[in-house]
Amino acid sequence: MAFEGLADRLQNTIQKIRGKGKVNEADVKEMMRDVKLALLEADVNFKVVREFVKKVSERAVGQEVLKSLTPGQQVVKVVKEELTDLMGGEQSKIAVSNRPPTVIMMVGLQGAGKTTTTGKLANLLRKKYNRSPLLVAADIYRPAAIKQLETLGKQLSMPVFSLGDQVSPVEIAKQAIAKAKEDHNDYVLIDTAGRLHVDEALMDELKQIKELSNPDEIFLVVDAMTGQDAVNVAESFNEQLGLTGVVLTKLDGDTRGGAALSIRSVTNTPIKFVGLGEKMDALEPFHPERMASRILGMGDVLTLIEKAQANVDEEKAKELQQKIRTANFTFDDFLDQLGQVRKMGPLEDILKMMPGANKIKGLNNLQIDEKQITHVEAIIQSMTKEEKIHPELINASRRRRIAKGSGTSVPEVNRLLKQFEDMKKMMKQMTGMSPKGKKKGGFK
Ligand code: GDP
Repeated sequence: MAFEGLADRLQNTIQKIRGKGKVNEADVKEMMRDVKLALLEADVNFKVVREFVKKVSERAVGQEVLKSLTPGQQVVKVVKEELTDLMGGEQSKIAVSNRPPTVIMMVGLQGAGKTTTTGKLANLLRKKYNRSPLLVAADIYRPAAIKQLETLGKQLSMPVFSLGDQVSPVEIAKQAIAKAKEDHNDYVLIDTAGRLHVDEALMDELKQIKELSNPDEIFLVVDAMTGQDAVNVAESFNEQLGLTGVVLTKLDGDTRGGAALSIRSVTNTPIKFVGLGEKMDALEPFHPERMASRILGMGDVLTLIEKAQANVDEEKAKELQQKIRTANFTFDDFLDQLGQVRKMGPLEDILKMMPGANKIKGLNNLQIDEKQITHVEAIIQSMTKEEKIHPELINASRRRRIAKGSGTSVPEVNRLLKQFEDMKKMMKQMTGMSPKGKKKGGFK
């Protein structure tokens, strides 16, 4: 995941000051020296760093902070607010034209992830906002770009407009918009051509498309892994075209994060979305505050909740609650739960969104063994209906049969049975069902 080094350093730094009962100017100065180094090392533009350090320092040594009852925490609050501000403050919205279709031009250098992002954005617009986009293949120079978009369209069951590679991109855009009106597509996403470097011919063509299609948004797709280069690319595209937003891709890689922290400030263009993988659902709206919170180790509970809401069936959740309350939780419910959690994405990513997760030693290097979960699922699936409800029936010979059926081992089956037993005990205690638990007035 991106930002790891930066997050580690910043968290260590603010940790030192957070708990202090008294903070003086020298403490703030020392902290800011560390913050500055951490940002520079994360490849944040030096002008941005200078400005940031100045702002935080001024506010942090201000009366209301140092004289407050919890100066350490106040200083951390200032750092968080300024970090949020640096990345754009509020989350910015995507335009909706009152004369549909809303036209979005996707621009960027080759390899940044433009075509992939066009597909992802269309998917998000449909899934989250209930829109019906038309994808437009206007990259006629890169061999296979048209085919790539058509394949994505097929995969998403979405229409793709293409006139091959012999018609000019300007003409393609024009006809595509007319077609969208005819077919009632409310968004038109134009996948324009990229180059290896910013060049005049490319810019001229993009300007022509802009003039003709009068886009509501021009999104620049940049690769977060390229750091300062991404910032430079954003600067020149913005000068020439006037961008309305940036999509930062490959934030799932181990980028140091400099681009994310500098782009807004250098180009005054908001980051609107971030790409977090190659799959079509790996695009998320960018929330500066949540990102700041994540970098500072305060967790990202809101995203976690949203993920849960999007993936967890509410009816099932209620049913489950009831089962826990009445201690009727079976292996079938357990299997269901595993499935629901899995739908939220890789477990280690989910864990990292929890507040304080960074303090769990070794979490950064943790690779949750998805294989182990698959084993657990296989074991449960090898149980009979009755066994799932009454695991106490599972004697030695049944254990052998289950191990064999699931391709696991008897010790693994034993471990799962024991864990399940413990879990049930805990549930009973939590709901005060067990007489023992009641006497003690709750759970331990
Ligand atoms: P284009 O030349 O800008 O149209 O780039 P493509 O859309 O063809 O993407 C280039 C490569 O980057 C492809 O292999 C994509 O799968 C990959 N890619 C795009 N976005 C992301 C992302 O957010 N994360 C990761 N890991 N890979 C991405």
